[in-house]
Amino acid sequence: MKDRESILVTGGAGYIGSHTILEILRDGSYDVVSADNFSNGDANTFRRIAEISGKEVKNYNVDLTRAADTRRIFSENPQITAVIHFAALKSVPESVEKPELYFSNNVGSLEVLLGEMRTAGVNKLIFSSSCSVYGNSPVQPVTEETPLQKAESPYGATKLKCEEILRTYSAAHPEMKTAALRYFNPAGAHASGKTGEIQKRNVTGLVPILCAVAAGERKEIYIHGTDYPTRDGTCIRDYVHITDIARAHVLAHAWLNSSKSSAGMHVFNLGSGNGTTVEEAVNAFQKVNHLTLNVVRGPRRPGDVAAIYSNGEKAKRELGWQPELSLGEMMRSAWEWEKKYRSLQS
Ligand code: NAD
Repeated sequence: MKDRESILVTGGAGYIGSHTILEILRDGSYDVVSADNFSNGDANTFRRIAEISGKEVKNYNVDLTRAADTRRIFSENPQITAVIHFAALKSVPESVEKPELYFSNNVGSLEVLLGEMRTAGVNKLIFSSSCSVYGNSPVQPVTEETPLQKAESPYGATKLKCEEILRTYSAAHPEMKTAALRYFNPAGAHASGKTGEIQKRNVTGLVPILCAVAAGERKEIYIHGTDYPTRDGTCIRDYVHITDIARAHVLAHAWLNSSKSSAGMHVFNLGSGNGTTVEEAVNAFQKVNHLTLNVVRGPRRPGDVAAIYSNGEKAKRELGWQPELSLGEMMRSAWEWEKKYRSLQS
């Protein structure tokens, strides 16, 4: 009997990778092989995935910047026909301190992966990009045609560089079909309450920080800037539930596999089309979780863009994807998981 096809998910122990594995397994059309060196992911992720899905996922604990180790994944798993590449370091402040680490890890792993995919004859790749490639765009909401801007951080620069590599590589090799998914602000946790985000390196992002304040680990939630030209003066972001983001990968993979997509590189925004202010997000977290947090409002922080939100028409039209879960559900599930995770640690 012919082996079922598998998707290689890199960064499968991480936040978006683990939720995407759960959606691929729920869809049921493909098996999954993961590659994660746990530089930020959690070793217990695969146990939680098994508990939720009833399926064991094999993880290769390899650094994807190492070609020989990456080659072994493909040679031992000839049933792999596509790759979803999440593995990267993602802390903006850390990238400012250690740009060389971010370039060698994030750009280096994509280069190695593309080389090994070519050797193995695997020609479909979905890449995790970010809305940071639009920088401080004066036009909102941003579409996939909105001009890209100079990166605000070394982390953002790695995303721009990786997109450029993917574009050049896809154009040079006509058998390749690739997609860069530009995420806006993934938030929330799995509906089961059994898995969610774990940040090992340092806590970044509004929702993880809100959870840290609610847990008493931080004293206050600090709102940076209340004089932006927005409806309440705080920055506008575009939050999307992690399960909606994960589901988009299943749809993007099916689309790349279909005759609807041509060869080459395709770009999709994964945003809701709705901007939420930081003040609104903080209020939503407190309201759905029946909590009152110590909110401190202060001056702007360098590097923050006033507003960034997505026009999601292309993903809706081509992939049939649009977010289904609400901001309240993101905040509720994030805090539910945080409490569960903390109880497991104590
Ligand atoms: P994460 O840190 O939770 O997951 C990334 C995983 O990759 C980690 O488990 C880490 O151990 C692994 N990894 C990193 N470098 C590796 C290497 N060289 N070899 C093997 N494994 C390696 O991050 P996430 O939030 O799940 O993000 C996934 C992807 O999405 C990243 O590329 C990130 O830049 C991108 N992204 C994330 C967000 C967000 O808000 N979470 C927004 C935009 C884009």
